[in-house]
Amino acid sequence: MMDMQRKIGLMGGTFDPVHHGHLLMAEAVREQYGLDKVLFIPAAQPPHKQGRKVAPAYMRLLMTEMAVCDNPYFEVSQIELHREGPSYSVDTLRELRSLHGSETEFYFITGADAVNELATWHEPEELLRLCHFIAATRQGCVLNLPRLRRELGERVVRERIHELSTPELEISSTDIRARIRAGLSIKYLVPGTVEAFVYKEGLYHDL
Ligand code: ATP
Ligand code: MG
Repeated sequence: MMDMQRKIGLMGGTFDPVHHGHLLMAEAVREQYGLDKVLFIPAAQPPHKQGRKVAPAYMRLLMTEMAVCDNPYFEVSQIELHREGPSYSVDTLRELRSLHGSETEFYFITGADAVNELATWHEPEELLRLCHFIAATRQGCVLNLPRLRRELGERVVRERIHELSTPELEISSTDIRARIRAGLSIKYLVPGTVEAFVYKEGLYHDL
């Protein structure tokens, strides 16, 4: 596929369910970095969450599509849902690179806490060759630059890892699931369409 876009942001996640914290962060990064597009990429089988039962992929996909459909800059990619086994970011980037060609710059958007652990990800050097990282900082969660420089090298950190302070909403999917189990409201934490879907499908009552 030929793509005229130059800068594409990537929001990976379980999106179980997607919430306004995800959406606000993606929009803030898009605006501050002048991204042409942000791709939301639901993970098939998250490598870090194998202990927990996750809602079926097609439901997380549907909810994510409903959540982004009113933003012309946002799109959902099924790229990780068609792959067997754990979803490694480096495989996703390789595939995106071959789809979009070498002209496109990819910006992987994630929390600074996750970026601090980058050296433990699958093939970190290759991953950092394929994309930039935008590390969203929040209170009590900033980049550990000495550690990153030690583990990944000074130049890579300078050129490929960018710190960004984004507006912070105290929302997590874990909390949303706990609220549903407890019979509490999730209104205004997720888009109304996602809220309605969660109830209609009876999601998260026993997760
Ligand atoms: P869980 O509680 O199940 O871990 P989550 O709310 O953290 O879910 P994920 O799907 O794990 O959501 O996160 C996807 C991405 O969104 C990660 O990069 C994560 O750092 C980021 N993220 C999660 N919650 C917020 C938030 N409230 N504000 C900004 N970014 C967030
Ligand atoms: Mg999380």
